[in-house]
Amino acid sequence: MLGPSRRILNERAGNGARNPPFVFHYSQPPRIEWGETILEESDVKKTITFAVIGGDLRQAKMAEMLARDGHRVLAFALEKAEMPPCVKQVSDLKDAVCPAQCIILPLPVTGKAGYLNTPLSGEVCPLDEIFRLIRHEQIVCAGRVQGDAREVADRYGIEITDYFAREELAILNAVCTAEGAIAIAMDNTAITLCNAKVLVLGFGRIGKILAHRLRGLGADVHVSARSHADRAWIKAYGYKPMNTYDLGGKLKDFDVIINTIPAPVVTEELLMEVDKNCLLLDLASKPGGIDFSAAARLGLRAIWALSLPGEVAPVTSGDIIRETIYNILHEKEESS
Ligand code: NAP
Repeated sequence: MLGPSRRILNERAGNGARNPPFVFHYSQPPRIEWGETILEESDVKKTITFAVIGGDLRQAKMAEMLARDGHRVLAFALEKAEMPPCVKQVSDLKDAVCPAQCIILPLPVTGKAGYLNTPLSGEVCPLDEIFRLIRHEQIVCAGRVQGDAREVADRYGIEITDYFAREELAILNAVCTAEGAIAIAMDNTAITLCNAKVLVLGFGRIGKILAHRLRGLGADVHVSARSHADRAWIKAYGYKPMNTYDLGGKLKDFDVIINTIPAPVVTEELLMEVDKNCLLLDLASKPGGIDFSAAARLGLRAIWALSLPGEVAPVTSGDIIRETIYNILHEKEESS
């Protein structure tokens, strides 16, 4: 059932009568014993209607998976993606937004300033046009919601849940990122990672998973962190700890250095120590951690590899977003 606060919003929006309460069901629903017969919960609960609007291959794959879970899925601005018939592609934004209980917008939600991110569509879709159609009782999920998207949503009094800000998504995305980084390292070195001397800068989500995978490949794994506690964990896991703030004089014989720290830690002074054959790979978002112009001046190979999850594993990334959306819906249902 919808909770009191949600009902008040419905009434304020004048939509209470048109939008009856709904019940979610999800993939792998719990089984209900019914005498000799076993019913899936989906047999007794309603599915929900999703509108998937814009986005890249991740949103397209997610739409497909939601539909295969038994939900009704309406897709708009995804016409260049191959979709199975269980996803209904609509050509009018209203036909996706209006019937939906949950509206899923892209990651990042904004492409060009003020417009939805629609790389798989010829549609030019101002954010304003979407939010004007959304009713208060609809659940809106979007990725990396910043500046203009937040401002437009606020203007229409629409609450957006940012699925990119969810920890479970960040952790699982780190797996895609670590695998992508390893693929790039393999493609751009003339040696195996087995027995290579590799430094991972940062021991956050990506740093942890990357170190684990690299060791699995037989690399000699060194990891830097700024805190004593993290360096103790690095040691406890059997990697070689280094202090992020004390790298001077220690970088000269690495084969690969992979940065995950979103701060300028690999300075020109440090780069002067790095071997010419070393591959420098920066995974950190802007401002990044490696001084790329200094690396170019010094003739070092440096690659800044961003947005790897969507690039190297769009199906897995779509699945991660789907799971995260289900978690969001569960939490909203529990708190209503
Ligand atoms: P995270 O869990 O927050 O880890 C960041 C690491 O950097 C932590 O070890 C943190 O240390 C350290 N750090 C942060 N600021 C620092 C500073 N000023 N000096 C020294 N160390 C600092 O982040 P993550 O999920 O691993 O992601 C790492 C970066 O990759 C982020 O910029 C993220 O946006 C980006 N990313 C890239 C991709 C891609 O495809 N390339 C995909 C996902 C994410 P403390 O724990 O001590 O703070």
